[in-house]
Amino acid sequence: MCIFCKIINRQIPSSIVYENDYVLAFLDNTQATPGHTLIVPKKHFANFFELDELYATEIIKAAKIVAQKLQDNFHCEGLNLLNNNNVAGGQSVFHYHMHVIPRYANDPVNLALPQHEITNEQLNKTLNELCK
Ligand code: 5GP
Ligand code: ZN
Repeated sequence: MCIFCKIINRQIPSSIVYENDYVLAFLDNTQATPGHTLIVPKKHFANFFELDELYATEIIKAAKIVAQKLQDNFHCEGLNLLNNNNVAGGQSVFHYHMHVIPRYANDPVNLALPQHEITNEQLNKTLNELCK
């Protein structure tokens, strides 16, 4: 059984922020920023590709609830929702999870993405390949 399934089954303790029949939200034990929370489906899906629509919907609904708590009680100034998928995507625990990362001025998180100069021709080529 995976580590998050053990957390869901209470075989491993966690700091529970919110739960319902479908999802469990608990504090990430490395706290990128204060309040950093993980939301997991209570059914094992390895990643976003596997996640079904019902659980995907419940994850987003729970993210709204957790975000509201972070805003109301921690007065976060920003927020990142982050979901890493597969080794190439930086995933380290292979039970789908959404990171809810509250952001504060001058916090140590850096999620800057590379920015490339792209022509319209290149964009159209990409679009045609993606949507064929
Ligand atoms: P990933 O790298 O897969 O996107 O994120 C996995 C996250 O799970 C990491 O941020 C890590 O700190 C967190 N994590 C791993 N094991 C445990 C655990 O046993 N308890 C809690 N609360 N968080 C965990
Ligand atoms: Zn699992």
